[in-house]
Amino acid sequence: MADRKTVSIDVRRDLFGANDDVAALNAEMFREHGVRVFDIMGSVGTGKTQLIEAMCDRLSQQYRVLMVAGDLATRIDADRVGSHGVDTVQINTGTACHLDARMVRVALRGVDLSKYDIVFIENVGNLICPAGYSLGAEKKVVVVSITEGPYMIRKHPLTIKRSDAVVINKVDLAETLEFDVDALVRDIRAVDANLPVFRVSAKTGDGIDDLMAGLGL
Ligand code: MG
Ligand code: ZN
Repeated sequence: MADRKTVSIDVRRDLFGANDDVAALNAEMFREHGVRVFDIMGSVGTGKTQLIEAMCDRLSQQYRVLMVAGDLATRIDADRVGSHGVDTVQINTGTACHLDARMVRVALRGVDLSKYDIVFIENVGNLICPAGYSLGAEKKVVVVSITEGPYMIRKHPLTIKRSDAVVINKVDLAETLEFDVDALVRDIRAVDANLPVFRVSAKTGDGIDDLMAGLGL
């Protein structure tokens, strides 16, 4: 049989320790201003922005919402959400493939958080490291979609473990793509039996109300 080698690497503890300190300061700042903050994570193309747009449309009558977008370059996502009448801050990370607590802190300097009730942070499109960096948000929500194929949960168990909720997006395409959404849910349950899982279509609006109720929005 051919050699089959797997090596697990431990990323250095002190790196995350320093981030956690800043995340705690962020959390305190959010609390002081009475603002609820959600960190929306997920790969490129899972529909994070569309999901935020759908939630903003339902919230913006009643609440004041700020969207913070993380991308290496451009403000495409911030402008999309901004076109719904929502204030936005775009963070261009240049080379960084995730947001960290310090970037969020710097980006919010000079922003009067007391003007807002809810902040959605759209993390850099990446299913791996954003989960390792706390931003001080109330919840980390990971968005997966059925167009990513059937194995992304099994391949990224740590991201699931570090999330407070999972959104399965694009369920409107499940039949066309012959995608077994139940199997994906079973994979999530195998990592964390109690994690809230929401089946949604940000495009059609299916499941968005349930998701928002689940997030207490
Ligand atoms: Mg996006
Ligand atoms: Zn990264």
